[in-house]
Amino acid sequence: MAAIIALLLCFLPAGVGAQKRSHSVFFEGSDYELHVYRIYGKHPGKTLLLIGGIQGDEPGGFLSADHYADISLAKGNLIVVPRANFQSIVLNRRIINEDMNRKFADDRKRNYEAKIVAILKQLIMESDCLLNLHDGSGFFSEVWESPERNPLRYGQSIIADSETYVNAETGETVQLGHMARSVIEQINKQIEPSQHHFRFNNHRTSEVSSLHREQRKSATYYALYTGGIPAYGIETSKSLPLELEVRYHNLAINAFMEYFEIIPETPGIKLEPPELRYLVISINDTLPVVVKDGQTLYVNAGDTIMISHIEANYERGLTVDIIDYGSISDLRKKVVIKGPTEIVIRRDYLSCGNIQVAVGNSREVVTKAKGIAISRPRPTAPAISQYQVRINGKERTFQNDEHVEVVKGDTFEIVDVTVESGDASRLQVNFKGYVGNSQKNTGEDRGYVIDTGKDLWQRYSLGKKGRTYQVIVKYDGEPIGKLFVDLKDTASK
Ligand SMILES: [Zn+2]
Repeated sequence: MAAIIALLLCFLPAGVGAQKRSHSVFFEGSDYELHVYRIYGKHPGKTLLLIGGIQGDEPGGFLSADHYADISLAKGNLIVVPRANFQSIVLNRRIINEDMNRKFADDRKRNYEAKIVAILKQLIMESDCLLNLHDGSGFFSEVWESPERNPLRYGQSIIADSETYVNAETGETVQLGHMARSVIEQINKQIEPSQHHFRFNNHRTSEVSSLHREQRKSATYYALYTGGIPAYGIETSKSLPLELEVRYHNLAINAFMEYFEIIPETPGIKLEPPELRYLVISINDTLPVVVKDGQTLYVNAGDTIMISHIEANYERGLTVDIIDYGSISDLRKKVVIKGPTEIVIRRDYLSCGNIQVAVGNSREVVTKAKGIAISRPRPTAPAISQYQVRINGKERTFQNDEHVEVVKGDTFEIVDVTVESGDASRLQVNFKGYVGNSQKNTGEDRGYVIDTGKDLWQRYSLGKKGRTYQVIVKYDGEPIGKLFVDLKDTASK
């Protein structure tokens, strides 16, 4: 069964609904399985990379990162790797073969740690800043105060490899110290006991006199000196209770998000409609089959079915109900089917999927095993692959749900919209607030050069404010996607 689910996951769309998110699994089924969550805000912005659990005996970091994997964002992006070194987490050991956080320089040993580091390096290249979340010993202090609190301790500090860094390619200076101090000021306002306050900890890693030259092989050093992005080790203190460590990590992440204007959506969590992806059903205790929403399951009268798993875009609140059998919640119940029925899948009170159970056989079937057959899935509206537009004559492409910024008076032309499947002739693309053919409003606005200074009707903009207009795409008259056009008064940058 695991194999069937694993196979299917590869083909399922990563993001569902308006929220753009993806979840990638590497080395699936191995002891070092790696999960990467990418969360894209509704509005574009900076990308912050969070790495937790690079050393398995530091739970404050990975338990904190967990809280960000399911977040929704209004602006900016997060890439979250809650458990970089899963095997070392399960075994509660810092190191399995080698310290994963000392493998970012030249790396000769081809162990699993190397494979994961190669992926982390790619993620660093996608990001504007890296936070590597650790639990450190004692408390860092610039001066020697006690064996627990001194310059060689790590806890409650934000570590950088340098005060500043000049990117040789762009000439830009990355102000690591300045950024850290401003973030720390925000964090410390929220921490009452002053002995728990964070401090900036400059390892001066590249300098000859550095106390931490081994950090030249670390993720942050790689991110700064190879990736050219600011990178920090966030260290909470292992001397504190775990709940407090997680809270302090969260405060640090929140403060960095604020610094980069990465804005969580409030009240915060996914609001898209629930959608069933598939059920895993076994029939007469044989190999389970995967049945998708809208398919029909064909069985023989007297067969026993058992639904063992519901895969949907939510994890909680799901039930499956075999109508006229069992109760309202029939997950993992064995039911003997006597006649045709249907299976209704709900999240809370909302129906989010429906599978017909038919008795007998059909010509439509695509899968057949020991009297089990499943019909073809019903056709669904195609997904939009991209919008092609021209702004002041210059061609650009956008994804569904993106915001296009134009300056009032720019010309805007919808060249075309392409779909991943289906028949393009059934599409209709409408710029709400613009009438292309004033003799006869067809609702089709592709090919018109729109003067955004003169041609738009403000009362059709969002909130009638004349700021954001929508391009709405329909397929057979049903809306399947939209693009936002944001008007600004003058060019910024
Ligand atoms: Zn560590």
